[in-house]
Amino acid sequence: LLWLSGHGDADKRRTGGCAVISLEDAQRFVLARCRPLGTQQVPPTSALGRVSAQPVIAAEDVPPFSNSAMDGYAVRSADVEQAPTELTVITTIMAGDGRSVVIGPGEAARIMTGAPVPEGADAVCMVELTKAGSAPDRVMIEEAVGNGNFVRPPGSDVAAGVEVIGVGTELTAAHLGVIARLGIPEVTVHRQAVVGVLSTGDELREGSTPLPRGAIRDGNRPTLLAMVEQNGARAVDLGIVKDEPSALRSVLERASSECDAVVTSGGVSVGDLDVVRMVLAEMCPSMQWMQIAIRPAKPFAFGLLDERVPVIGLPGNPVSAMVSFELFARPALRLMHGHHDVERPRLAAVSDVDLDRSPDGKVYFLRVAASVGLDGQLHVRPSGGQDSHQLQAMAAANALAIVPDGHGVTAGDLVDVLLLDADRLTTLPA
Ligand code: AMP
Ligand code: MG
Repeated sequence: LLWLSGHGDADKRRTGGCAVISLEDAQRFVLARCRPLGTQQVPPTSALGRVSAQPVIAAEDVPPFSNSAMDGYAVRSADVEQAPTELTVITTIMAGDGRSVVIGPGEAARIMTGAPVPEGADAVCMVELTKAGSAPDRVMIEEAVGNGNFVRPPGSDVAAGVEVIGVGTELTAAHLGVIARLGIPEVTVHRQAVVGVLSTGDELREGSTPLPRGAIRDGNRPTLLAMVEQNGARAVDLGIVKDEPSALRSVLERASSECDAVVTSGGVSVGDLDVVRMVLAEMCPSMQWMQIAIRPAKPFAFGLLDERVPVIGLPGNPVSAMVSFELFARPALRLMHGHHDVERPRLAAVSDVDLDRSPDGKVYFLRVAASVGLDGQLHVRPSGGQDSHQLQAMAAANALAIVPDGHGVTAGDLVDVLLLDADRLTTLPA
């Protein structure tokens, strides 16, 4: 296998016969086996967060007619060149007024924001620069205005014929408005992935009942179900699967008929005598068990159930499961959803403290709190304990710092980060 570009025999011994591969090779392996899902037509009200599968072309101008950008008076700019000057007010035009009004020389129309600019007028004087004239139907224009002043021409937002949304665009609130303003009833988007999430392990329990010795509560499933939803997919809870072959078999059978992808956690370590591994290998012969040169989240498994449904096997440790989801499942889901950019951008941040480590061939993903400093730069520091069971630090983090193999990063130096949550980016106090 080409992607198994490992680091030699010593590594193979250390990892139980499986070569260590680079993060990039593992990501390529996963993405090469995922496909964009089919498409469907949805109204703008159901399209938030979906990815366009066809371009949206404007069939009409927005705005459809020349209208006023201000409350004031529609005028002929030539008439007010010598302002202050008085004009005769022939009518008032409100937004939505369908009359066709014409103003002649020496005339003006009172006009509201959004109202059609009358024929003959080429400018609007804002009301603040006018005052009452010498008679009730007269207005004093106090300042000259140029042709086009406060007039919004037809098509000045969107011109008919223009592509307003390209293929592969994640639809935002503003895009939905753009679509609705064009009178487009439906937009073609990629289908949402239905993603089954299951936890594996005999030690796992659910709920608040007291734990027998040796048991722990399942923390991964709620987290992974949420991460699936955060990435725009529909999560299906497949529950906890005991280390019992028939239980896992029937869950995987259900998943292969109901789901577009399956995310599992636990039981993927090399040397695991886990039944998960055994059953997956039997039901999903394409399953590959990987050892990736990263920390956390070294063990990982991936295969296609029925040669169609990606099975993304994350490690069981809670932080590893989340980092592994971020590095493999998120890009896979984005690809399935039709995104062209599947990876987060890497940003440079100043490390406020030493990030110590020693060379071991791996890239570290540290859980860090990122904030914007008074220097305008992004700053990071570890958000807590960095062991792979210490989920608290992940909860306190809004970014992962990528520390390459070597001797770490010195305080004040730059480190690459993946910003996980820009909404939780704070500005450092003075
Ligand atoms: P495994 O990947 O199955 O070898 O599990 C690695 C570690 O993660 C063990 O300490 C497990 O008990 C723990 N673990 C596995 N699954 C979960 C889960 N769903 N929630 C919390 N911890 C888990
Ligand atoms: Mg296990």
